[in-house]
Amino acid sequence: MEIINRRARILSLSRKIRRENKTIGFVPTMGALHQGHISLVKQARQSSDVVIVSIFVNPTQFNDKEDFQKYPRDLTSDVAILSEYQVDYVFAPDEKEIYGEKFSTYVYVEGLSDILEGASRPGHFRGVATIVTILFNLIRPDFAFFGQKDAQQVAVVKRLTKDLGFDTEIIVMPTVREPSGLAMSSRNSRLNDEQRQRAAVIYQALKQAEKAFEKGERNAHTLEKIVREKIQSEPLAAIDYVAIVDSESFQQISEIEDREALILVAVNFAGVRLIDNIVLNSRQ
Ligand code: AMP
Repeated sequence: MEIINRRARILSLSRKIRRENKTIGFVPTMGALHQGHISLVKQARQSSDVVIVSIFVNPTQFNDKEDFQKYPRDLTSDVAILSEYQVDYVFAPDEKEIYGEKFSTYVYVEGLSDILEGASRPGHFRGVATIVTILFNLIRPDFAFFGQKDAQQVAVVKRLTKDLGFDTEIIVMPTVREPSGLAMSSRNSRLNDEQRQRAAVIYQALKQAEKAFEKGERNAHTLEKIVREKIQSEPLAAIDYVAIVDSESFQQISEIEDREALILVAVNFAGVRLIDNIVLNSRQ
């Protein structure tokens, strides 16, 4: 496994891989790796000849400086983990390598970027879309792997991939959870054991709504209320939003009927921002 820091090196490498007619599977991450990331890496390993994982805590997607500074970073341990999963290359550039002096070009996906997660984190999806575009241009992956946990990010990435004409298939993997049901996240490390246990209320709330849906409830307002009330029963949780949206447009819907929909939740839990979602009428 080779660790690469330079844009020029990853660019020439990906050109060489393509010349050899090998497929590239790419997993973008911000490090602090956990089983959620690993599920993407394993899938990439299965579906592609060459696996590239990027580790880059992308400053432009953080609207909160403190959140950026506090974000867990441990490249040595991440690299050790990736070497166990037969990753071929780790691209771990520093900030200046990506955002050089006078950097001023950003990618903005209209419509999807300023609602829900984007409304709570202004500029976040512009940062995501920009870094994904830069990385896709450098690596030109055949397949890129993203987690369902960040559902709105998936919608943004799929949109920009189509709009900008990248020849990359976006593959979405299910959310990996702790035994309690809490979605794995690098941010969970900021919770103590008891808080982590109690944060499972988010998934329990989503599962309650899913049960009601399975029993025939199709009214979004009713389902949303089930989620809200369950989460509100936990004093450590402060809801940012609960929303039921069409999975592609992310527009809120009132009756679910038979389209694919998502119940999205963002909660400030003991000072840590946690997001989660479940898919209704999954077409996958
Ligand atoms: P991050 O390092 O948080 O930027 O995440 C990198 C990738 O891993 C993104 O595509 C995330 O959606 C995905 N990911 C993060 N947590 C999970 C999880 N619990 N299950 C599945 N994928 C995840």
